[in-house]
Amino acid sequence: MSIAENLIKIQESLPEKVCLVAVSKTKPNSAIQEAYDAGQRVFGENKALELAQKFEDLPKDIEWHMIGHLQRNKVKYIAPFVTLIHGVESLRLLKEINKQGKKNDRVISCLLQFHIASESSKFGFESEEIEELLNSSEFLEMEHVRIDGVMGMATFTSDETVVRAEFARLKHFFDELKSNHFANNSEFSTISMGMSGDYLLALEEGSTMVRVGSSIFGSR
Ligand SMILES: *Cc1c(COP(=O)(O)O)cnc(C)c1O
Repeated sequence: MSIAENLIKIQESLPEKVCLVAVSKTKPNSAIQEAYDAGQRVFGENKALELAQKFEDLPKDIEWHMIGHLQRNKVKYIAPFVTLIHGVESLRLLKEINKQGKKNDRVISCLLQFHIASESSKFGFESEEIEELLNSSEFLEMEHVRIDGVMGMATFTSDETVVRAEFARLKHFFDELKSNHFANNSEFSTISMGMSGDYLLALEEGSTMVRVGSSIFGSR
């Protein structure tokens, strides 16, 4: 099937309000252009420099999401244009994003990444760390970042029970943060979870944003 056909099939499986991030990492501009021509406008990349290059090369109404692990010294390359940074997993990174947001005179939307998988190699906050961050004066004084929700990656396993439980935990963290910190903040509304192999499970557990790569563009 073509990229356009894959996109349509996935779009049809998503509830109307769920955002599809087409994960185009490692894929050439021609593949992204094909998806763009089929109507897709939201794309995700996991390397800052590749993202910055693709921003330069491709149509300017694309919304670029940074979905991968982001090093602090790379924030500057994407700060001028990035629509959403999914992988915020430390106060230090958030401080750098705030600094670069200020330099570019904009507010950068971010998601707090939680460590929900059993693999220790995956990044993200532990649930008990987050209160300290959200209550710190440093965080409360930041004017150039905005927290739009949470993001997480489930364990890479075919065991649906495990994956489902991890997504349910992320939904639970979201609900707790929403009531304890963001009750009056309508922007705090995103739960980014689900990839090609598990997005249907993620939707059942409350995902509002799925990040799908190989099911659209083919394997990498
Ligand atoms: C690569 C990647 C995806 C997409 O993975 P697929 O299995 O190709 O759909 C989603 N999220 C993150 C953070 C990724 O790095």
